[in-house]
Amino acid sequence: MKLLCKTMDTTVKNYISSEKQIRYDKAYLRMALEWGKLSQCTRKKVGAIIVKDNIIISDGFNGTPTGFDNSCETSEGDTHWYVLHAEANAILKLARSNNCGKNSTLYITLSPCRECSKLILQAGIKRVVYINSYKDTSGLDFLITAGIEVNQIEDPFLINEKL
Ligand SMILES: [Zn+2]
Repeated sequence: MKLLCKTMDTTVKNYISSEKQIRYDKAYLRMALEWGKLSQCTRKKVGAIIVKDNIIISDGFNGTPTGFDNSCETSEGDTHWYVLHAEANAILKLARSNNCGKNSTLYITLSPCRECSKLILQAGIKRVVYINSYKDTSGLDFLITAGIEVNQIEDPFLINEKL
């Protein structure tokens, strides 16, 4: 009997947490959008938030490394090779903090490129939630093959009143 009660509790808890999770996912994506606005890049502005155990442990937006000029593009409009993508910046911020990315969730406004998808896997991130799809989806394919949960929420501003 005790075991049965425990099982029922778990079921109810999972049901509530899935509704709650969607609300939180959207809120974190809205934060990522806000963070992307801080980018000095003109071609694309991408924001990322890393969350673990309901705590934001890192954030990032695309931009040049510390100490470099803020402009991301050449006078011809091409992106400098040394510009870091938002998720790379968020993961590297983790590297210089006391936090650990293992089993965390990455919220990002644009789906990861191939290069960043490798960093995501190696950082121990277990879930990626994004808004827009990057033109090259091989990064996403790589993450899915690696067993990372990938979810797209196209409109984080769309609020379901029931949730
Ligand atoms: Zn990238």
